[in-house]
Amino acid sequence: MVSPEIHRPVKVAIIGSGNVGATFAYTLLLSGLATEIVLIDANQSRAEGEMMDLNHAVPLTQPARVIVGTYADLAGSVVVVITAGSAQKPGESRLDLVARNANIFKSIIPEVVRHNPNGILLIATNPVDVLSYIAWKISGLSSDRVIGSGTILDTARFRSLLSQYFGVDARSVHAYIIGEHGDSEVPVWSLANIAGMRLPVYCAHNGRECHSQDLETIFHQVRDAAYEIIQRKGSTYYAIAAGLLRITEAIIRDQGTVLTISGYISNYYGIDDVYLSLPSIVDRGGLEHIIRLDLAEEEIKGLQNSAAVLKKITRELGY
Ligand code: NAD
Repeated sequence: MVSPEIHRPVKVAIIGSGNVGATFAYTLLLSGLATEIVLIDANQSRAEGEMMDLNHAVPLTQPARVIVGTYADLAGSVVVVITAGSAQKPGESRLDLVARNANIFKSIIPEVVRHNPNGILLIATNPVDVLSYIAWKISGLSSDRVIGSGTILDTARFRSLLSQYFGVDARSVHAYIIGEHGDSEVPVWSLANIAGMRLPVYCAHNGRECHSQDLETIFHQVRDAAYEIIQRKGSTYYAIAAGLLRITEAIIRDQGTVLTISGYISNYYGIDDVYLSLPSIVDRGGLEHIIRLDLAEEEIKGLQNSAAVLKKITRELGY
């Protein structure tokens, strides 16, 4: 006899079906990972429009049911992804957004936990580190089940640009951005490698030019990418949607993948009680383990500075 388990829907809920939420819903649909996708948005009509458009793609993609729901429909969701809130305006920093989006979270998070106490909460709304901490505090959930997309996007941008510079598939470039998803983020040059070789060593052995000035420029392009994209097209959503999908996949498939997500930090190079990004093992339980990195002195200082920036804002908001 077929176990009833097999027929249970794999439900993923998305709160906020704006640019990021709807693009994530589309990537999720294409992936076939979820059999039920619940959309919730303060703008009901927008959510309904996205639902219709997505459902029309089902016959051409993967079997799934996309619905517009209420908070009661979150029950049984494996992951609830929160992308609700205002986006950055041109020239505005992610931290400028914080008070506005913190207020939105005060209304959303208790509803999510009331109706779906056993799922994983994945935050994408900016400033993502501060809001992940606030979501964790409001939710009362254990910190392994409240995570932020953090620097998964910045790390992808970093690997993408390094891949272009070195002429190697981005998936073969191993490099991380840690700390804040924002202006104080830190590139971990000391551990960046191709085929297990640090970048200067890779260049020396493979007859390539490798200028520290170019690498510095690459980091600046990563750090400032959101500003550049927002100036040109208003907002960013494809790469973050792909990042949210990668995290969701690691959770649903219990993969134990190392991803730079925002998690609760304690006793890490003297850093405590703040959310920021470090390479972490992600599985069905959420954040399974934060990897203890062997960082260079200036990277430790950068990480500590990032923590101080984030902690200050979080405390100013009363959390
Ligand atoms: P958007 O304005 O297109 O969509 C936001 C949606 O949230 C809107 O549809 C709005 O109606 C909805 N919303 C607002 N308040 C709500 C509430 N109380 N309940 C339910 N829905 C509500 O914005 P976007 O471009 O999709 O960006 C969404 C968020 O994601 C922003 O904070 C943005 O800065 C952030 N973002 C994060 C990353 C990242 O790497 N973490 C990358 C890109 C964007």
